[in-house]
Amino acid sequence: MAERRRPVVLILGGTSDARQLAARLAADPPGGARVVSSLAGRTKAPVLPQGETRVGGFGGAAGLAAWLREHGAAAVVDATHPFAARISANAVAACAEAGVPLLRLQRPGWTERDGDDWRRVGSAAEAADLLPSVGRRVFLTTGRMETAPYAGLDDLWFLLRSVEPPEDAAPRNLELLLARGPFTVANEIALMRGHAVDVMVTKDSGGGQTAAKLDAARELRLPVVVITRPAVPAEVCVASAAEAERWLAHVVAR
Ligand code: NAP
Repeated sequence: MAERRRPVVLILGGTSDARQLAARLAADPPGGARVVSSLAGRTKAPVLPQGETRVGGFGGAAGLAAWLREHGAAAVVDATHPFAARISANAVAACAEAGVPLLRLQRPGWTERDGDDWRRVGSAAEAADLLPSVGRRVFLTTGRMETAPYAGLDDLWFLLRSVEPPEDAAPRNLELLLARGPFTVANEIALMRGHAVDVMVTKDSGGGQTAAKLDAARELRLPVVVITRPAVPAEVCVASAAEAERWLAHVVAR
């Protein structure tokens, strides 16, 4: 008799939360499922999750729905970055179309603490509009994909830290620092002092991997322009890999 096809769990990844979940499921897959992690393929040398991995876009929501049907997916966990809004919206549409349960795994955002001087804005474009009134030497920590909004700010100087160099338009006065977190508070303070940074720009990514820069900015009493998160389109959302694992245990038949 042919072996019964194993259910498939798809993790949409590219984050440390997704890697944590993949590691937990590799040890004990729900219902004996085949667990597949998906990466967009943006970085040339990504940190790979444990277990099976696929790389590259699906071809929009329709392509993702087709993948889910073809592979007999039993559940999807969207553990992509809080700012990866397109793939999250695609996951909602594709799972609805293919009738597959969807969970959003998203770490909580950061909260302002005593001594912080945060200026919240809704987008990189708004951050660029605000910057000239806040500082002159900018520590830009929002990644290489979003440099274009700052490209016209010729009176400002930028320290851009990213894993790979920017490909889009970028500010003229820019120093590039290629680095991948996590970073320590002491190093962040030394970096900001060493470059006489007077304002930092960050997305509200949340989590511990890159939070040291916020502690450093507080210590140095630097203003921080914080880009707020896009809305979560998924109906069910959890904040940790452990909660996602429990949800999968219920959803994927044993
Ligand atoms: P995005 O704008 O939401 O997605 C753009 C397109 O990239 C999607 O339509 C999809 O292509 C493809 N894609 C994105 N994530 C994918 C995944 N996990 N597996 C397969 N295809 C994926 O995404 P983004 O902001 O460029 O982020 C890309 C990846 O980097 C995500 O996996 C995210 O978790 C990670 N990341 C993003 C940030 C950030 O700040 N945005 C930070 C750290 C890590 P198709 O439509 O062809 O399927």
